[in-house]
Amino acid sequence: MSLVDSAIVRLLPAVPKPVVRRISERYIAGEQLDDALRVVRRLNGEGKMATLDVLGEEITNPDEARAIAAAYRAAIDAFEQGRLDSNISVKPTALGLNLGYELFRENLEAVVRHAAERGNFVRIDMEDSSTTDDTLRLYRALRADGFDNVGVVLQARLKRTLDDVRALAELRPNVRLCKGIYLEPPEIAYRDFDSIRANFVQALEELLEAGCYVGIATHDEWLVEQGERLVSERGLAREEYEFQMLLGVRPSLGDALVRGGRRLRIYTPFGRQWYAYSLRRLQENPKIAGYIAADTVARLLPGRNGSS
Ligand SMILES: Cc1cc2nc3c(=O)[nH]c(=O)nc-3n(C[C@H](O)[C@H](O)[C@H](O)COP(=O)(O)OP(=O)(O)OC[C@H]3O[C@@H](n4cnc5c(N)ncnc54)[C@H](O)[C@@H]3O)c2cc1C
Repeated sequence: MSLVDSAIVRLLPAVPKPVVRRISERYIAGEQLDDALRVVRRLNGEGKMATLDVLGEEITNPDEARAIAAAYRAAIDAFEQGRLDSNISVKPTALGLNLGYELFRENLEAVVRHAAERGNFVRIDMEDSSTTDDTLRLYRALRADGFDNVGVVLQARLKRTLDDVRALAELRPNVRLCKGIYLEPPEIAYRDFDSIRANFVQALEELLEAGCYVGIATHDEWLVEQGERLVSERGLAREEYEFQMLLGVRPSLGDALVRGGRRLRIYTPFGRQWYAYSLRRLQENPKIAGYIAADTVARLLPGRNGSS
């Protein structure tokens, strides 16, 4: 993390909300479900799939967590009615994990059941390392109860990830593999760029070897190339894996994947908590602030479209 990135993050609360909103616009689909559905429809028109995230991480009471679970069920119904190609991504803390495992279980199970009845799929996002065990525990419990329309996320940044891959392999989990946004202590996490990349490639190889469906979630061109190499070496059909990217991030890299015949899913956050979400993501990983600042400046400079 550079000093400039940290400085940007420290200054952020002083940036007027309308300015943060303008910058966030390309990364967040709006405040209402209808805004998000419009974005999903556009993405589908571009040959991309979506996964919808209802923003609501700062949950302080069980009713808020239940309201988020209800919002996810409404989104699933709307996909069905609008024939949209999208699933959902849920954050354990948004469904109440910080208030107790049972509340999280109750809410997630209701969402997964609702999705199963409508042929849809639920991805459980992975948050910071204090939540990893409970998240994987509930994933296993849901699979044991017969729900196959649910998947997890593993983070290449964490040293435990290869062990998790091996422990989960017999379930042939549907896994989104990403670097991991949360900066974790060196005892449990790799800190340098190359080790995180190496762990990502190793985990991807082992997941594919175990016959898992993998969502290769990265905007790192080198990792995208490694992903393409590994799926080609195994002769996987187009439907046996997918690439995933965040809304508004490196769209031209995503477009190139789609032109090349790959399946791409775009992570699409929406909701009234966009401001808290934006600040939190940046505070968690100041490097992102550097990316966004560089991209925003590139867009303002003549002759650059900043769309990489
Ligand atoms: C679909 C999807 C789902 C994810 N889900 C989770 C999750 O559940 N848990 C979790 O911990 N992390 C999640 N992440 C975040 C992920 O862990 C990384 O923090 C993030 O993707 C950046 O890593 P990278 O692989 O793109 O490589 P990097 O080397 O960090 O980025 C490569 C390039 O992409 C651009 N870039 C990357 N991120 C951004 C950004 N946010 N804004 C602007 N430009 C950017 C920059 O140009 C950068 O140079 C998810 C990422 C994706 C794509």
